[in-house]
Amino acid sequence: MFEKILYATDFSDMATKAFQYVKGLWGSGARDVTILHVVDQRGTDSLTGLAAIDPLAIEKGWEELAVKEISGLEDELRNEGFTVKMRIEKGIPFKEIIRVAEEENASVIMIGSHGKSNIAEMLLGSVAEKVVRKAKRPVLIVKR
Ligand code: ATP
Ligand code: MN
Repeated sequence: MFEKILYATDFSDMATKAFQYVKGLWGSGARDVTILHVVDQRGTDSLTGLAAIDPLAIEKGWEELAVKEISGLEDELRNEGFTVKMRIEKGIPFKEIIRVAEEENASVIMIGSHGKSNIAEMLLGSVAEKVVRKAKRPVLIVKR
């Protein structure tokens, strides 16, 4: 039932907690994992026009960091026997998560309830909320 996992990460503590559950789903038949990070387009859009800043260079640096982080996670999963794929996309995080879930035909989307912001009063982060609202596939949310 959970054979193909789409695990989306912003590299926050909560996403890292969710990763432990990704590994744990091996016992429930999970075999393929796509690890997705979305470089938030809105972050660098707001910098465009500032003379001393090159948004493309910032994006590139961030992408390189993401590749490094995800490579570590890939190794961990491969050691457990999973087939793993890395995807780094640029755009609006919730939209990319939903789009990639369809593209990869994921049987479940796994995310943390919160991410980098992790505001105490929020029931869910905005990305988590929109994914639950709009995804057509099952979503597994790991709570803090
Ligand atoms: P907000 O972003 O609304 O300020 P937050 O950062 O606390 O709140 P979310 O961004 O909703 O919470 O994060 C919830 C989960 O969504 C994360 O644990 C992660 O699994 C996923 N996620 C968030 N941002 C991204 C991203 N850029 N790329 C991939 N996955 C993401
Ligand atoms: Mn966030």
